[in-house]
Amino acid sequence: MERADFLIIGGGVAGLSVGAALAPHGKVAVLEAEDAIGHHSSGRSATFSHYGIGNAVVRGLTMHSRAWLLEADGGALARRHPALFVANEEMRPALTALAEDMACHTGSLEEADEPRMRALFPPLRFGSEAIVAGIADPDGLRLDSDAMLQHYARAIRAGGGRVLNGRRAATIRPQWTVEAEAGESFSAPILINAAGAWADQVAALAGVAPIGLKPLRRTIIIVDPPQGADARGWAFVKTAVDDFYILPEGARLAASPVDEIEDDPRDAQPEDYDIALAAWKVEQYTTLSVVRISHRWAGLRTFAADRTPVAGFDASAPGFFWLAGQGGFGLQTAPAMAEAAAALVTGAAWPKALAESGVAVDHLDPARLR
Ligand SMILES: Cc1cc2nc3c(=O)[nH]c(=O)nc-3n(C[C@H](O)[C@H](O)[C@H](O)COP(=O)(O)OP(=O)(O)OC[C@H]3O[C@@H](n4cnc5c(N)ncnc54)[C@H](O)[C@@H]3O)c2cc1C
Repeated sequence: MERADFLIIGGGVAGLSVGAALAPHGKVAVLEAEDAIGHHSSGRSATFSHYGIGNAVVRGLTMHSRAWLLEADGGALARRHPALFVANEEMRPALTALAEDMACHTGSLEEADEPRMRALFPPLRFGSEAIVAGIADPDGLRLDSDAMLQHYARAIRAGGGRVLNGRRAATIRPQWTVEAEAGESFSAPILINAAGAWADQVAALAGVAPIGLKPLRRTIIIVDPPQGADARGWAFVKTAVDDFYILPEGARLAASPVDEIEDDPRDAQPEDYDIALAAWKVEQYTTLSVVRISHRWAGLRTFAADRTPVAGFDASAPGFFWLAGQGGFGLQTAPAMAEAAAALVTGAAWPKALAESGVAVDHLDPARLR
């Protein structure tokens, strides 16, 4: 039996970031079912941080995370990269509303006319059938998800903790002993459920009622920019309503039809229809012709009913802590969520800076979902 102070189920960004935040407070053990960390959602994201996603709490968490993301590891985890939010005629009111919401958290928004939008992303398609308006934020962030995961795993190990791959929690008994599929046992007074799309299933293993998490599948395709063009510096472009986004992926472009297909917790795979839809939308919003899709993938974005992430002890199960529902913003909010979760787990005061970012304990409390 291996004993720890904090047992964490899930080696994605949620589990690793809270493990790093707890490492100074005791022995951490992270159990990850797969053979590598970040195998599921955390390794399949678009790796961007922006304010054009989520509600005010998500924006507050995003704002609070920025400074840390830019400074950690000497700037290796994130770098500034422009974002551009665009609208067709029908989306104009949505673009205005989005700009108002974003302006509560960033002062760097600027209206972008056609030449400015062209400078930010040369092949955008303009005109009444395509893009007619835009708002630019030069202060978006390009994230390096792998560097983030490695940073957090290193911090856990440096604190004497362990990150154990290939350890799928199979049985869980209060308070708390976890038996992995392969037979090893682990115990700790505090169990942190950071199992992403599987978090409700992990709760069921522990005899804890689910909180109604929904995994939604999203697809990304990789396409070529025009011959001879290097897309590296082009902006992240997203429509004002959830219809399409495109951003550089190395010298190529990653695009998504912003699909949200209900799915089960599993190794999500892209479906032909969603791949075709992604290609069609590339041609609808840009002048690019999709001749070749060099790569494609899908991943699960898992949401609570109110689309606000969850961090807090379960009122019915002493020592059982939820860290789940990171939806489509789990990387960009990870530093703030880890800080919030560590404060709740250790009983420390709620971080003042989080409160100033508009994030309160009650916003994240799992009790709100029951
Ligand atoms: C296509 C796509 C694009 C995205 N783009 C962005 C973006 O640009 N910016 C952003 O911030 N976010 C983005 N996201 C969202 C982000 O990726 C997620 O919010 C985040 O990765 C969730 O992290 P997690 O640790 O909760 O889940 P995961 O990374 O899925 O980790 C959960 C882990 O738990 C493990 N597990 C499950 N059951 C068990 C068990 N019984 N025992 C042991 N381990 C178990 C799983 O194997 C898994 O590794 C995107 C997501 C997708 C799919």
